[in-house]
Amino acid sequence: MKDEYDYLVIGGGIVGVATASALLRRYPDSKILLIEKESTLARHQTGHNSGVIHAGVYYAPGSLKARFCKEGVQRTLDFCRQHTIPVDNCGKLLVATNETEMRRMQDLLTRCRENGIEVEMLDQAQLREREPNISGLGALFVRATSIVDYRQVTEHMASDFTASGGKTALNTQVTDITEHGDHIALTCRLSNATSAGSFSVKGCFLVCCGGLMADRLTRMMGLKTDFQIIPYRGEYYRLAARHNQIVRHLIYPIPDPALPFLGVHLTRMIDGSVTVGPNAVQGFKREGYGRFNFSLRDTLDMLSFPGFWQVTGKHLKTGLQEYKDAWWKAGYLERVRKYCPGLTLDDLEPYPAGIRAQAVLKDGTLVHDFLFADSPRSLHVCNAPSPAATSAMPIADYICDKVAEIEQKNEAG
Ligand SMILES: Cc1cc2nc3c(=O)[nH]c(=O)nc-3n(C[C@H](O)[C@H](O)[C@H](O)COP(=O)(O)OP(=O)(O)OC[C@H]3O[C@@H](n4cnc5c(N)ncnc54)[C@H](O)[C@@H]3O)c2cc1C
Repeated sequence: MKDEYDYLVIGGGIVGVATASALLRRYPDSKILLIEKESTLARHQTGHNSGVIHAGVYYAPGSLKARFCKEGVQRTLDFCRQHTIPVDNCGKLLVATNETEMRRMQDLLTRCRENGIEVEMLDQAQLREREPNISGLGALFVRATSIVDYRQVTEHMASDFTASGGKTALNTQVTDITEHGDHIALTCRLSNATSAGSFSVKGCFLVCCGGLMADRLTRMMGLKTDFQIIPYRGEYYRLAARHNQIVRHLIYPIPDPALPFLGVHLTRMIDGSVTVGPNAVQGFKREGYGRFNFSLRDTLDMLSFPGFWQVTGKHLKTGLQEYKDAWWKAGYLERVRKYCPGLTLDDLEPYPAGIRAQAVLKDGTLVHDFLFADSPRSLHVCNAPSPAATSAMPIADYICDKVAEIEQKNEAG
């Protein structure tokens, strides 16, 4: 039965690929199809991020984020070692530049300890010694933070999946999902240059890891959920190559706990360059990376969602500030000059943006943790926020457990 599978997985980002691989490891005799609408894997969030293997500094103790991240670090490092994927264990400094940040740094120190993360407090002189180009009153040093290229990680996971008998369909966009009593049916549209047209695929169980399209996939099959994906652009610059050695670690500001994102940071990339960013500005096209990209459908969806207005109202001042600095390079520069005063406008060169898939509830709550929805024959990853690239392997195992639970419930019922 050529087009019938035990498991169908939508989404060729790191979460979808890790999930397809984990399902195949758990059920080695099963037929699994991974479906991705783009011509290559990791084209969206997974291929447009900072490349950090996060240690798990910030996350609420006991949250799925904290748990997955802690486990994800070691598993990502092990995976990279096994596949000889380059990793740089450069560590990270969270730099406090004023008294308020010094107090927040103490809270972060406590949180690190609650999360079981090894951390060292540096005073001004120790910071200077470690990072002569960085200024601050003090810093937290997190040794367990590393950098990697998540595209490469995803591609290696996908090769393992295929080598073990899994099947991948690229250029294949799922346009309709229908759940039946004994199977789930997908309508797919081929989007590559050589072939076009629709076809259908059947499976016993579906897992959706659609990132920026997660809400559309739940709606496509009529699931009642309370969230919508709001796209937030994360814009970067790259430092001119003469600054590739400007820092030895990743340099992060101390985040404002009232805000959902980590703040503009200096990130050493695995190719040897250093990026500055990302900021967090409203996007008007979910998968459009150009500054002027606009989608009427995406924008209307957003404007007609009550949660968008609630969240925008709540963070209006910060949102406008983000906007101003996104368009005014000197404003953006000031954010990084706060802790790296030697940089000038000429040092900031263009670099591609990323777009975060942020799940927002109808009442305007920003969902900070992982969020799932299910039906008798499907499981949807509705929110997979940063550090989901770091955490992809434990998330995938958790998904497998949830799938097994749902299947057992189906059998019992
Ligand atoms: C700016 C930025 C910086 C970040 N930095 C870090 C970091 O340093 N470290 C870290 O751990 N995490 C980071 N993250 C978070 C991390 O990148 C994401 O959480 C993770 O990549 C999510 O993976 P995913 O597979 O869920 O989504 P995605 O990578 O977005 O993949 C979803 C896939 O689903 C496909 N798809 C959607 N709809 C359909 C359909 N109908 N049919 C077929 N295919 C479909 C899409 O084409 C896409 O390929 C960052 C994110 C951003 C945006």
